[in-house]
Amino acid sequence: SVTPTHDTSAAVATPPGRGGVGIVRLSGPQSLKIGQHIAGGTLRPRLATFGDFLDEASEVIDQGLAIYFRGPASFTGEDVVELQGHGGPIVMSLLLARVIELGARMARPGEFSERAFLNDKLDLSQAEAVADLINSTTEAAARGAVRSLKGVFSEQVKQLDKDIVKLRMFVEAAIDFPEEEIDFLSDNNLKEGLSSALERLKLLTQQSQRGAILRDGITLVLVGKPNAGKSSLMNQFVGEDVSIVTEIPGTTRDVIREYVSLNGIPLKLVDTAGLREAENAIEAEGVRRAKAEMLEADGVLVVIDAAQDLDWVEQTKILLSGLEASPAIFVVLNKIDIATDLAATIENNPYQMIRISAKTGEGIDALKSAMESQFAPNITSESNFIARSRHVDALKRAEQHLVTGRGVLLDQAAGELFAEELRYCHGALAEITGEFSSDDLLGEIFSSFCIGK
Ligand code: GDP
Repeated sequence: SVTPTHDTSAAVATPPGRGGVGIVRLSGPQSLKIGQHIAGGTLRPRLATFGDFLDEASEVIDQGLAIYFRGPASFTGEDVVELQGHGGPIVMSLLLARVIELGARMARPGEFSERAFLNDKLDLSQAEAVADLINSTTEAAARGAVRSLKGVFSEQVKQLDKDIVKLRMFVEAAIDFPEEEIDFLSDNNLKEGLSSALERLKLLTQQSQRGAILRDGITLVLVGKPNAGKSSLMNQFVGEDVSIVTEIPGTTRDVIREYVSLNGIPLKLVDTAGLREAENAIEAEGVRRAKAEMLEADGVLVVIDAAQDLDWVEQTKILLSGLEASPAIFVVLNKIDIATDLAATIENNPYQMIRISAKTGEGIDALKSAMESQFAPNITSESNFIARSRHVDALKRAEQHLVTGRGVLLDQAAGELFAEELRYCHGALAEITGEFSSDDLLGEIFSSFCIGK
């Protein structure tokens, strides 16, 4: 649960294992007292004090630096002490044990970030950016996480939030003076304010969609009939046998995920069960899952067995049916090494089509560069910040409410309904910064961080 804490918590803040330096971090009202007790002397704010760290019997546990950060000028906003000793697992656990003996409590995962959030040092999306920075797997993701940590994303959300609040005040005032309501509602300032908020909300949604890609990678789903060569193609990307390649159609029933880097673009490949008319329950489940994966994906890679299926455009349409939003679609005609009567390029072909052999590797480079030119713009955008799908969801909801709101305002001049949509929109934005998030959500977010953060 996420209620403000008045106790003092402690954890080893450096990674487990051996290193030149290991840090035990304390946060809370007892930090200074405990720190001074161990360091055996007075600690001054922001000054590194070198000395012995002592145990109960005044035996030396380690030698190192003690640094005191007086709240609120600290990461958590509370009094913080860092004991910087030598980075060995035994030394660190002795030091931590001593700190606990003196009255601190073991910190939960993410507790320091949580305290920072509760003390208004960071908003929720910034606290998430701390975790994302630590977990980032590419340089672009790390840069994006720092931008979010510095508040680039939050600032834009807060600015929008302010605009929505203005609109709300305007509308609530209109409702309070019913005889003038119609005048209020047809006021041009209101319409203009609404349009510009909507414009910027759309832009921010797009940016955060790119930000989520930066964090999670690009999701590419492989679909095709059983035996078309999806697993083989996946193996071409991954470079080792991860999927089960067999001669028996439909053997890859479970959804398999692999993370690969396509020249620095983080790619998540999802291999689904073969999509076709399901003949039994297990297959039906596989087909359902494949469809669900496709709906969430940034791109779909349709794999056609060119030796079997000459009607590839028709087949692609069937495989992609039910896909409303159109992610990037690539069609590969596979098995060109054995296809004798290769499907000709069809007129009015609506898809990007690439001929490959997942067996010999022919055409794979062409496929990779097609994918690269499709996705690179999403990744290399220099000024982008990192975001999570949670943020994208919230922004989309905010946008939806604003669009609905505009509808009721313009079509019906319905002030009350418009005000309600604005309120929902505001609520959705506030979820991002955590101003308005449930304890459950907060608990879930912070517990996914690691200890010492
Ligand atoms: P999936 O069911 O779509 O995952 O298909 P698999 O990757 O398991 O491939 C089915 C069969 O086709 C296996 O026997 C593969 O070795 C074979 N296969 C896949 N790609 C090629 C290719 O490009 N050329 C040839 N000759 N055989 C292939």
